[in-house]
Amino acid sequence: MTAAPTKALPYLDPALPVADRVADLVGRMTLAEKVGQMLQLDARDGVEGLVEDMFAGSLLHAKPAAVLAAHESTARTRLQIPLLVAEDCIHGHSFWVGATIFPTQLGMAASWDPDLLERAARATAVEVAATGVHWTFSPVLCIARDLRWGRVDETFGEDPVLIGELAAAMVRGYQGEGLHDETAVLATAKHFAGYSETQGGRDASESDISRRKLRSWFLPPFERVAREGCRTFMLGYQSMDGVPVTVNDWLLTEVLRGEWGYTGTLVTDWDNVGRMVWEQRTQPDHTHAAAAAIRAGNDMVMTTPEFFEGAQNAVRRGLVEEAALDAAVSRILTLKMELGLFENPRRPDAARQAAVIGCDEHTALNLEVARRSLVLLRNDGVLPLAGGCTAGPSQRAVAPEAAQSRRVLVVGPNAHDDHTQLGDWAGASGQADWLPEGHPRHMTETVLDGLRARVPAGWSVVHEPGAQVLTLEADPEGAFFPDGQPRPQVVVPAEPDETQIAAAVAAARDADYVVAVVGDRIELVGEGKSTATLELVGGQVALLDALAATGTPLVVVVIASKPLVLPDSALGAAAIVWAANPGMRGGQAITELLLGLVEPTGRLPISFARHAGQQPTYYNQVRGQHGSRYADLTQRPTFAFGEGLSYTTVEYDDLRILEPRVETADVLRARVTVRNTGSRPAVETVQAYIRDLVTSVTWADIELKAYRQVTLAPGESRVVEIDLPAAECSIVDAVGRRVVEAGDFELRVGPSSVPESQLVAPFTITA
Ligand code: BGC
Repeated sequence: MTAAPTKALPYLDPALPVADRVADLVGRMTLAEKVGQMLQLDARDGVEGLVEDMFAGSLLHAKPAAVLAAHESTARTRLQIPLLVAEDCIHGHSFWVGATIFPTQLGMAASWDPDLLERAARATAVEVAATGVHWTFSPVLCIARDLRWGRVDETFGEDPVLIGELAAAMVRGYQGEGLHDETAVLATAKHFAGYSETQGGRDASESDISRRKLRSWFLPPFERVAREGCRTFMLGYQSMDGVPVTVNDWLLTEVLRGEWGYTGTLVTDWDNVGRMVWEQRTQPDHTHAAAAAIRAGNDMVMTTPEFFEGAQNAVRRGLVEEAALDAAVSRILTLKMELGLFENPRRPDAARQAAVIGCDEHTALNLEVARRSLVLLRNDGVLPLAGGCTAGPSQRAVAPEAAQSRRVLVVGPNAHDDHTQLGDWAGASGQADWLPEGHPRHMTETVLDGLRARVPAGWSVVHEPGAQVLTLEADPEGAFFPDGQPRPQVVVPAEPDETQIAAAVAAARDADYVVAVVGDRIELVGEGKSTATLELVGGQVALLDALAATGTPLVVVVIASKPLVLPDSALGAAAIVWAANPGMRGGQAITELLLGLVEPTGRLPISFARHAGQQPTYYNQVRGQHGSRYADLTQRPTFAFGEGLSYTTVEYDDLRILEPRVETADVLRARVTVRNTGSRPAVETVQAYIRDLVTSVTWADIELKAYRQVTLAPGESRVVEIDLPAAECSIVDAVGRRVVEAGDFELRVGPSSVPESQLVAPFTITA
């Protein structure tokens, strides 16, 4: 066994400046130890050898026992450099049995509430930190435009301003008061940048994206979190203009580290360095791939074990300077020192775990997030059911006049499916293999559970499955990808089951209301699981058609990872609620909404298409095409970005700009009056869009620039102030500079991105 370093060594002295300690340590490291520091290795098969033989600087996907073992093995290494333990805790501590699992990021985004998301990220960090994990690969800042892509659920939706706002909030939540705080975990802005701009929705395909397009919409959210101190960035899988992001010098060096002054750490995505060899085939072997990755400024290399030999060969053969390796290693060691890991490696803490994981406070917050994630898309008045209940989350009592007996049929494949409710990156979703059953079943309340537990006395709830979604078959190309990762199985849509449908129809005829819970399933979501269609898979459409034909009031609840194309029987239903993947408290939140115990407040962070052929359907499209429809279909989405209903009505009036001629350095000050004209309270999301009337190059017709959330009691009126720096009324010009072009603009304020819903006030920016 190697002798432990003595405490007298400078790098172990916390009183010295970090830069001095890092320089001292790097000076003591062998080439192999330096390369090892850059390795982030997959610990699912155990940690033996990863730290002691390969000197890995970081591990991911380590099951709880492996985290302990890994910490012990660093103590046996020559320099005892502490580990960075990383995990994808992207909507809660995904793979820790019994952790609090929040709605997916897309569901959280429907709240449009940065404070709420900051609190959710903080709660996640508190749970994560107690388990010896230092780093979460969250949030995702990709812009979701093509709904066929399998990772739409991981995003904040389609708008760069909303993404930036919510991502910054989550970064603050994860990193807390600062890295020295034991409950801080490192946040990761991913996947930098342009990964989501897929072709045909196909995951990780070459992105057809120019530098100007990146600067216009894809980079601004990343720039915001870089400047606000997000400590790590993960690079995307794709290539752009033929260059894999891993070696995109312009993006990594010129823009990120240069223009934005980013000093944090970069991590590749899964085997990005190896993929340049075996998948993208832009490097002949791992030695050249390693040299290219180091030269481009990567720090941590995720799950490319071949990098260990490759990088050492590259240095020995002079393909890369050792100084470049030293720079990357120094950045990693700086991060470890700033976290204080040399003094306290932040091992798992059983007592803290018992106190915080899945604790009541986090469960209550999760319920709040789930309630805020729900979007009411249609309501002919059926909701709240039977005129519902007295309002307010704290009140559980149903108004007496509503208490007469009612029979509710709960039907559909997602009515009682805890895995779908949690969504991807949680429990048994496939990335971690140590919890095949997922999270404890009792922690998740499904819609069926919720209604059974919460309908008023005298009501009855009956349940029918109604439809199957899919079965799975082995992929003919084999069970594994060339890098050894499991290949998803092939989805075979289920045929409508006439017996199940007949039973559902019979029960619907006997019911006062039908609550049909449809959507997608975990097998249709995720990496390498993009979908060719957006329709409800399997027997679901036949089920909805049959239910609609009974004439019993039909409430469609869509629990789906992304906006789906809904059939006419759903679009014509009495009500539609979209619940994304609403997490552990989803069933309770949905039930409360249906019964009117809470108000619907969510707004769409992403548009719903009418047809998969409309892709992409995002609202801020560049103007200048022939017409605005297909020969056979409108281009309009079914539900647009920003839309969402309340149980009350809110009117907008009197949009005024206090000084409609401003200079670039000024703040545009506008006022709008919103009035709750109904009988229930509202949380109204007042949205402010800008239209730049003439631009030197083509530009998005309208863009969200700001929004305010206001609470309005029935009958209440409020003047909402919207103060918008004129500098934000910018475009990216032909040579890629962000500029404000003097001229005439419109401020458009309303409840959604739908132009007809907005009030308009003209203003001018003078040169
Ligand atoms: C995903 C990342 C994730 C990483 C580690 C990759 O395949 O693209 O988002 O953080 O795996 O699990």
